Amino acid sequence: MQVLAHWDFLGKNPEYFAGVVFAIDQLLATFSPGIVASGLLDESAHVITARLVIGPRLAFLDSSFAAGVLIGSVLIDVDHVPLLLLKLPMDSAEDRPVSHSLLVPILVGAISTTTRGRVQSALLGVATGTLCHFMRDLSCGGIPAYWPFTRRLIAVPYAVYAVSILGLATRMMIANRRSPNLPSGERSLNACRALTDQGVSAKGSIVLAGLEDATQCTH
Ligand SMILES: [Zn+2]
Repeated sequence: MQVLAHWDFLGKNPEYFAGVVFAIDQLLATFSPGIVASGLLDESAHVITARLVIGPRLAFLDSSFAAGVLIGSVLIDVDHVPLLLLKLPMDSAEDRPVSHSLLVPILVGAISTTTRGRVQSALLGVATGTLCHFMRDLSCGGIPAYWPFTRRLIAVPYAVYAVSILGLATRMMIANRRSPNLPSGERSLNACRALTDQGVSAKGSIVLAGLEDATQCTH
């Protein structure tokens, strides 16, 4: 999938993209770029956050799971749209949607147990991506993590998020240095080969025809 290849690209220079997250947050804190621009900037930071959480393991992940993480990292904010249309404020405790509850990834994870194959991988990815989303929102006003038991927002200082981003970026930089000079797609293909060589998938086959999109490793 081409989108995943682009997402993989974010992992090639994690230090830059960690800086992008901090720049976005500084921008949002200093200016009011408008609802649409703020939303786009914030979702971009969510995507980068999830990419940093996944870290150097993206090449080893099932593409359905990786796609699920990417989608889950932003999907939960879709419920902001009705609030935007009604022009309601978004930053107060009362207005952060209850979808930002731990109940959501738990339910998605539970539903995944009733499925199999790629659907199960995708749902597990969505649950993981939602948790990545919460990681950022915890430091940006908090989330109603324990809804429906309480509507109270759970929050952490921004410094916790900042240190986490720096730590994740550092981990990825170290991993990248261990396998330097490999384009992301090539690194993914090598990962697929390694998995197949190790017999992880007895029926595994590598989609060599799609070298430019080497994240596709069928099992
Ligand atoms: Zn959110």
